[in-house]
Amino acid sequence: MIGFIGLGIMGSRMAENLLKSSHEIVVYNRTKEKAEDLLKKGANWAASPKEVAARSTVIFTMLAVPKAVEEVALGEEGFLGSLREGSLWVECSTVDPAFTRRMAAEAEKRQIRFLEAPVSGSRIPAEKAELVFLVGGKEEDMEEVRPLLQTMGKDVLYQGETGKGTSMKIVINLMLAQSMAAFAEALNLGEALGLQKETVMETLLNGPTAAPMLKGKKTKILSGEYSADFPLRLMQKDLQLVSQAAYEHSLSMPSANLTKELYALAKQQGLGELDFSAIYQFLKPTK
Ligand code: NAP
Repeated sequence: MIGFIGLGIMGSRMAENLLKSSHEIVVYNRTKEKAEDLLKKGANWAASPKEVAARSTVIFTMLAVPKAVEEVALGEEGFLGSLREGSLWVECSTVDPAFTRRMAAEAEKRQIRFLEAPVSGSRIPAEKAELVFLVGGKEEDMEEVRPLLQTMGKDVLYQGETGKGTSMKIVINLMLAQSMAAFAEALNLGEALGLQKETVMETLLNGPTAAPMLKGKKTKILSGEYSADFPLRLMQKDLQLVSQAAYEHSLSMPSANLTKELYALAKQQGLGELDFSAIYQFLKPTK
């Protein structure tokens, strides 16, 4: 049986794709209500992460922040101590490379194999099984779970030893966060100068300067309806991970840290649960 822990925006859709491909799964989520839909569709429920471990030999985790991963793996009801030797833990959450290496070491102490497989792609790619997995760890472990990863994604990209998958993931999200913030400021400047929002948007999106990802945010920005594909609070978390990793490598990242605080301010003002594209709304002058 396959274990799946963490049924938020991403995990619920990834687990559903495993189910759709006729895999038997056992799931756990801190808030049980979020599992109800999957349970109706045939998933098995475990009352704790520990119970997931007792019933599976491969476990996926898809959790918000490093602390959540640590609690679920090593806490009182954690799964790591209850997995059978030789089982495989596939960690898909976005965390930082040092944390990933620490979890891999904890797994190794207990003769559990560890693979990191954070994902590129948001709510809709998760739903359509079009995620891109950025894998770090042993290649043979990746090959073993490749069929499962391909059930949830379109690409499985090997990045190197443990820590490299997470490294690539935070590099990508640094670009995402900054592209979105730059786009939001450019739109707001255009409007302040008297240009039509739609005109500025179309011109930027069809020129060479805007990141392709921004096209996907057009509807949200034009409608002002920011239901979360990727919650702003998680983008701020990812910038915190970037900042931490840069510190550990004595790298100065002034613009990344400024952007981190921009998202932190937006979160502080109550925008954390909205999509991160709401940074446009946050920067919009009040009339
Ligand atoms: P989400 O909807 O906020 O779900 C987070 C999950 O973590 C939920 O299952 C939540 O449980 C659980 N959790 C949080 N704190 C916990 C704790 N202390 N103990 C136990 N469980 C805890 O987030 P998501 O969008 O699915 O993202 C999951 C991960 O994927 C994050 O690391 C995110 O950065 C990354 N990611 C997200 C996207 C995206 O577009 N959304 C894209 C790529 C990567 P509850 O249900 O009980 O709150």
